[in-house]
Amino acid sequence: MATDTTTPILPALNSALLPFWRTELDPLDSLRTTPSLPSQSDIVIIGAGYSGVTLAYYLLKNLPPADDSHPHPTITLLEARQICSGATGRNGGHLRPDIYGHIPKYIERFGLEAGVEIADFEWNHIQALKDLLLEEDIDCEFNLTRNMNVYFDEASGAKAKSAMDKLLAQGVKVADDLHFTGAKSAEGISGVKGAKACISYTSGTLWPYKFILGLLSKIAGDKRLNVQTSTPVTSVGTSSEGLHTITTPRGTIQASKVIYATNAYTSGLLPEYAANIVPCRGICCHIALPEGKTAPFLPYSYALGTEKGLPGGSYLISRPDGSIIVGGASHTFKSAREQWYSAVDDTTLIEPTKDYYNDYMQRTFRGWEDSGAYVKQIWTGIMGYSYDSNPHIGEVPNKPGQYICAGFNGHGMPVILLAAKELADMVRTGKSFADTKMPRLFRTSEERIQKAQSGPEGGDILA
Ligand SMILES: Cc1cc2nc3c(=O)[nH]c(=O)nc-3n(C[C@H](O)[C@H](O)[C@H](O)COP(=O)(O)OP(=O)(O)OC[C@H]3O[C@@H](n4cnc5c(N)ncnc54)[C@H](O)[C@@H]3O)c2cc1C
Repeated sequence: MATDTTTPILPALNSALLPFWRTELDPLDSLRTTPSLPSQSDIVIIGAGYSGVTLAYYLLKNLPPADDSHPHPTITLLEARQICSGATGRNGGHLRPDIYGHIPKYIERFGLEAGVEIADFEWNHIQALKDLLLEEDIDCEFNLTRNMNVYFDEASGAKAKSAMDKLLAQGVKVADDLHFTGAKSAEGISGVKGAKACISYTSGTLWPYKFILGLLSKIAGDKRLNVQTSTPVTSVGTSSEGLHTITTPRGTIQASKVIYATNAYTSGLLPEYAANIVPCRGICCHIALPEGKTAPFLPYSYALGTEKGLPGGSYLISRPDGSIIVGGASHTFKSAREQWYSAVDDTTLIEPTKDYYNDYMQRTFRGWEDSGAYVKQIWTGIMGYSYDSNPHIGEVPNKPGQYICAGFNGHGMPVILLAAKELADMVRTGKSFADTKMPRLFRTSEERIQKAQSGPEGGDILA
């Protein structure tokens, strides 16, 4: 048996930093379907965040029904910590399709069709998620809104407008949804002090933990599924017959197919991805109002630039109770590389940024000056930065029967649902990536792996 022996990069245990999303735990949070691990399973999914749970959901939807003669679970879902305790349970709750951010760069590099595929794919997530929540009757505070990209200097606003105009001139259909407001009205329209321009487009906001746990509740009782939390996978080995052995401190499982839904932690099990998917720490917080105080409800979600037009800024959503989830601020810690790059510790804060959001709402929004808004919870989370900014989906090169769904570059909300649906189809039917509806640039490949390995550390990301 050929065994990959690597030091696993595992999620840190016992975080004292409680993300707001995990303040109302679901009874399935620490689910163990059976007291011990099954010794065999047809498919093992590693990681129970947005990717792992949606993969299990879509696989079960289309696999044959439970059959008493089947001696072991069809799918085993293994999670190092609790369900939705990784990036999905620690993120900004913002479903913001990229219909113009990176798209012009993709078009420039790979042609109009390849770029538009990504814009369309992300755009389609709004309706797909809305439909799924309705179909499964999941309450996760989903709201359909418009995201405001706000620019604080006219040069950044002009650059954004020209990117938008270029997309429209190229006939990119989803760009029709973009709406630009210039300096004269930007502050009044966005409610953001000092705004010099803004662009709005359709977006969604949600409580990600409730979405994932809601979806899991629909499949948790399925006899074909076995879920095991607090079960870190430390290695995956493959026999000459192609059978995989998944090793954990609680025992091993044999499976014919393995899916890595391990996002930032992927290179711990698949070291060939170390240069492609780099764990990077981000910060997020929940801002609340003191008892009895009110502030204007923000009807939009936001991506707010920086004052000097530097890359970075913040993403922000408002919750139905008027409180705020806001995160980002990478411009405040980018230069302190040891704080965020190649970092898997989400048990501590990013030092230079820990106080940044203290009076953020008062500084930023009209009408919030005397609100008393304060940071109620602040936490960090680990993103899987992708070298070329696109996720890696599909069969792992040179490893038949092993699949990957990872590298979402801090932007998985409008990508994972349909990627998991399509990948589940690949795993189930054996169809090729080219026969799915996924953007071609998402396909994991030897070429992409090599390109990152031979590039400078921390390079590309559409530099
Ligand atoms: C602070 C922050 C803010 C963000 N904000 C947004 C946002 O507003 N909008 C947006 O689109 N995206 C956002 N993202 C990114 C988004 O959260 C991710 O793209 C998405 O959640 C990835 O989902 P996932 O299931 O692939 O990964 P995860 O949710 O990280 O799940 C991976 C799971 O795998 C488990 N695991 C890893 N290794 C092992 C192993 N060896 N054995 C067993 N289990 C293992 C982990 O414990 C984890 O639960 C943000 C991320 C962070 C960190």
